[in-house]
Order: sequence, then structure tokens, then C-alpha cells
Amino acid sequence: MMLHYLKSYFGYDSFRPLQQEIITHILAGRDCLVLMPTGGGKSICFQLPALMMEGTALVVSPLVSLMKDQVESLRANGIAAAALNSTHSEGEQREVGERLRHGQLKLLYVSPEKLLAEKDFLLKATKVSLLVIDEAHCISQWGHDFRPEYTQLGVLRSDLPDVPVAAFTATADKITRNDIVEQLRLQPIATGEVKVFVSSFDRPNLSLDVRRGYSADEKIRVIMDLIRRHSLSEATDGNVVMQSGIVYCLSRKTTEEVATKLCARGVDARPYHAGMSVRDRERVQDDFANDRLPVVCATIAFGMGIDKSNVRFVVHYNLPKSMEGFYQEIGRGGRDGLPCETILFYNVGDLIALRSFADGSAQREINNEKLDRMQEYAESQVCRRRILLNYFGEAMDHDCGNCDVCKNPPTRFDGTMLVQKALSALARTSEMAGFRLVIDILRGNCSPTVREYGYDKLKTFGVGRDVPARDWQDYLLQMLQLGLFEIDYRDDSHLKITGQGRDVLFGRSKVQLAVIVREDLSVKGRKKRMAAERQLMLVGQQEDAVLFGKLRKLRMQVAISLGVAPYIVFSDKTLHAMATQKPITVSEFGNVSGVGEHKLRLYGKVFVKLIREHQGLTD
Ligand code: ADP
Ligand code: ZN
Repeated sequence: MMLHYLKSYFGYDSFRPLQQEIITHILAGRDCLVLMPTGGGKSICFQLPALMMEGTALVVSPLVSLMKDQVESLRANGIAAAALNSTHSEGEQREVGERLRHGQLKLLYVSPEKLLAEKDFLLKATKVSLLVIDEAHCISQWGHDFRPEYTQLGVLRSDLPDVPVAAFTATADKITRNDIVEQLRLQPIATGEVKVFVSSFDRPNLSLDVRRGYSADEKIRVIMDLIRRHSLSEATDGNVVMQSGIVYCLSRKTTEEVATKLCARGVDARPYHAGMSVRDRERVQDDFANDRLPVVCATIAFGMGIDKSNVRFVVHYNLPKSMEGFYQEIGRGGRDGLPCETILFYNVGDLIALRSFADGSAQREINNEKLDRMQEYAESQVCRRRILLNYFGEAMDHDCGNCDVCKNPPTRFDGTMLVQKALSALARTSEMAGFRLVIDILRGNCSPTVREYGYDKLKTFGVGRDVPARDWQDYLLQMLQLGLFEIDYRDDSHLKITGQGRDVLFGRSKVQLAVIVREDLSVKGRKKRMAAERQLMLVGQQEDAVLFGKLRKLRMQVAISLGVAPYIVFSDKTLHAMATQKPITVSEFGNVSGVGEHKLRLYGKVFVKLIREHQGLTD
């Protein structure tokens, strides 16, 4: 029965992990808290019971844009849903009220303010089947996104004693979790405990990749390469279409600089940050969601309110502040389950800047601790996904095979000499130097500081000329990680040699360093790599790329005519399935994953027509 609903409304053949258990639990009329990562498939866990139960499910959601997205997706599947929030006119609200009274809505999305303000009316007019609290971590001051309005929601439990309450969130540590259960007054099951479903936080389709010590130019080159890798050549007119990606930056200024550099290289990229007007920000978000703008360079403010499922790459141009933030940001990629590439750039400048933010913040200790963990992740020499999942309390017993450490396990060499050169250069400045100055001395660059302090007279001046500056960056980061020196954040971030470092400097112990692997960013190297990847794609799946381009265009036309985002019409995943299965009858089309009965009725004919024409079938 449940499977039948899943197929006919959503077009899917099977449940994802935990979905079925959660739905069964809710249908039995019980409360629960669900922790699932972004993209894990939370919505279906309450949308499907809402369809099967008598009455209307109330869904509390904090963001207007998210509500709009979800309501559009539901309607696109032929499900009666509406939203009620401050952006609606009185007329619209009245209409929603009418539909509620007549029991015509299966789901009503409502902001917490609106729900509390209109409680009497809503509870009188509606036969509430289910109360859903989405983004439930907003209730807790411990969470990272506290909203005072949420704390009032607990009273609803007593207003609706017989209605099951289901709370959902993608981020919640133990404290937040308990806080949600308590504040929402969730009812325990027979064992005396409140049922909490925790699904795996692993997102195997997100690749993890960290690049150490890259310069600004090198970062841009890597990003350009990434963008090219994720471009499709449009079948008919030979135009190149770029797929969607986000570049997260630490500062507003950087978002603008990076966007400008990408534009100069022919990429349609725009910045997004809190310093822009609401209108400008909305426009960027809207264009991005609707596939009109491929790349957004954003501060962390971006991405909260969109359900866009086809983000194909996420770059962290700077080191993030915490693992929570990092995971949430990369989690905005690949929500349709298709591969999404993520790259994190890490260098010492970021570390110093973030340290000083943390030191100056109100929660100094916590923020420094969070940054430590982030740094450990970036410096890891073991499978990064293991560290990531471990951080979120999940044990993983195997390497993932989809991170840079797994793909290129570090090989080591005796780096004692290199380390001695660097540490002796540092020692001769009386440990009054940062990364850049040490590198200038090693490389023999007569920079103003070098000349001012007479470092060009040092015996070590120029002893590391044979190693490129960017490699020195990397080696110094490795040495930092090995504990050979520390950054003294209280003394202008100068480097201080540790006891362990002295042992190496004076020949009492040896050091192994990791060989630096750099991808070939030259044009020739790129072409070679792209050809290899294309080959791989051809072998992996029999997908017709030309057909995919045509389908994508048709999807865009349909989306424009309906005034919705393309992913509301069909997800990328569904489009890929079409280009692979190439259904040539409407009933075959109905078998494609993601095509429910409603969409089959609405779009089956036009899509099948296009596929038939593409296959040279005329009728
Ligand atoms: P979340 O709210 O947890 O971030 P969504 O509910 O938006 O995730 O689901 C993410 C994507 O996965 C959506 O495109 C959704 O249609 C798809 N999805 C959910 N459940 C299934 C399923 N059982 N089979 C295939 N796709 C699914
Ligand atoms: Zn791995």
C-alpha cells in the first residue's frame, strides 16, 4: 500500500533507508524525532503519511522560500498543498482558509508565527492529521540557527493531544536532540523513551577533496577546471551549458573578487553576501535555482532556503569555521543522489584569520575547539569521510574510496634535510617570521622585509631555491601538522619551533614528509583528463548525452511555461534515467524513476515525442 503511494505520487520504486520505518511509525499515530542529512529524503517521510491519513497535515517550516519550493513540488505531483505565511495577501489567505474548511488540502505549510497567531482559527477549521516540525533544531539555543518563535510550539502538543507530532532536522548533536524532544513535549513509546530515528549521515555521492597551500591563481585554475568538467555541450546548437555549483568564501570581498575572476574567464558567476540588498540576493538565488545562473560565489548566508537538487560541485575557497558548517554546505550539493564534487582549499592565511575571529568571539573556547577539528580534517592523512562521520558520531569501518586520501594515498620520503633548512631559516630570524617570510628567505627573494632586517645576509638565504614556493607552502603546512613548529597567534602569528622541531634541527631525529601530488593544470593535461573521464562515462552507463541535452531544454521550456524551477518538473536524476532508458511509449515512460502518475499525465506525451524523434521514429 505504501509502495503503491510512493510509485503513483512520487514515481519511485523503493524506499530509502529508514523512510518506511518512519512512515509506519507515524501512521501508527506516534511521535518521533528524525535526524537525516540534507538530501536524505525527509520530505517523503511526512508527505506520504499525510496523503494516507484523513485530514490535513500541518507542516511548520521556518523559511518562506523552502515552503514555496515544497508546495510547488507537491503540486507538480498532483498533491493538494498550500502555504500560509507573511508574504501572502489577505485574499490568498482567505482562499487557503476556505480550502482548509472544506478539507481540500492534504498538507498546509505554515510559518511558526502564522501558526501561533492563527492557532484558534486553524485548529477549528482543520481536521489536523499530523503535526510536522521541519528544521526542528531551530527550537534550541544550542543549535546554530535558533529562532525564538519555535520555542512556543510546545504548547501545540496539548492543543492536539491525539495528533502525532513528527520533528525533522538535518543537524543536531546530543544536546540539541534532547532539547527538541523536551521542548516539543514529544510523547514516549512503550519503552518509556521518545522514538528517535537517526539515519546515516554519509553522503557517498559527494566526493571529498582537500588542496593544501594553493595560491589565489591556482585556486581559480582549479575552479575553472572543475567548471569545465561539469559543462555539457548542448546537442543541437553546439552551445556549452554549465552545470550548477557554489563557491563558498570567507569574506564578502572575496566573493566579489572570485566572481569577477570567473566572469573574466567566461563563466556566468555572481556574488552573494549579506551586504547586498534583499532584492539583489533574491534575484541571485532565484536565477541559480532556475538554472539561469550556473555559479554563485557566496558567504555562508547562501543556500539555506533552496531545495535545488542538481548542484554538481561545491568549493570552499577558504577553510570553513567548523565541521558542522562545512558538512551543511557541501550537503547542498548532489541532493538528487548523483555525483557532486567538493573541493576545500586550505592554507595558513585562512587559519590565522579564523583563529583571530575565534579568539575575538564570545564563545572563544568552543570556537577554537571547532576550528581545531576543522584543521584536523583538512590535514588528515587517513580517509576523510571516516573523520567526517566520526565527528558526527558515526563509526565507519572501511575507507570510502571517494576522497583524495583514498584516491591518492600519500607516499612519503625522508624530508629531514628540507625540514632542517626551513627550521634553521626560521631560527635565524629569532623565530620572528611567518610562512611568507620563511619562504622568501629559503627561496632567496629580496623582499622589502628581508632587506629591512638584513635576512639576505643569512647563511640560509636561498638554500631552498630548488623547491618552488608553492611546494614550500605545502611542506610548511605538513611540518605544522607534524608539530615541528607552532603558530603563535599572540605574537603576530610568528612561527615558534617546538621541542620536537629542535630534535630534527639538531639531527637528533628524522622526519618523513608526504610527496606532493599536484594535478596538471596545463591545457594539455586538462584535455587528457577530460578525454579519460568522457571515456569512463561512456563505459559506465549507456546514456545518450545528446538526448540528455535535448531533454534538459524541453524541461526548461516546460518550467518556464509553468513558472516553476526546472527541478520541480523533473530532477536531473530522472532526466538521466530517461536519456539512458529512452522510453518510446507513454507507459514505458511511466517506469522511469521519478515519474509519478501526475507527471506522466502532464508531460508523458511531449517527452516521449521528443525521445521518439531523437530515435528517428516517426509516427
Ligand atoms: P531532505 O529534505 O532530506 O533534504 P528531500 O526530501 O528533498 O531531502 O529528498 C532529496 C531528494 O531525494 C529529492 O529529489 C527526492 O525526490 C529524492 N527522494 C526521496 N526519497 C526517494 C526515494 N525513495 N527514491 C528515490 N528518490 C527519493
Ligand atoms: Zn576516503
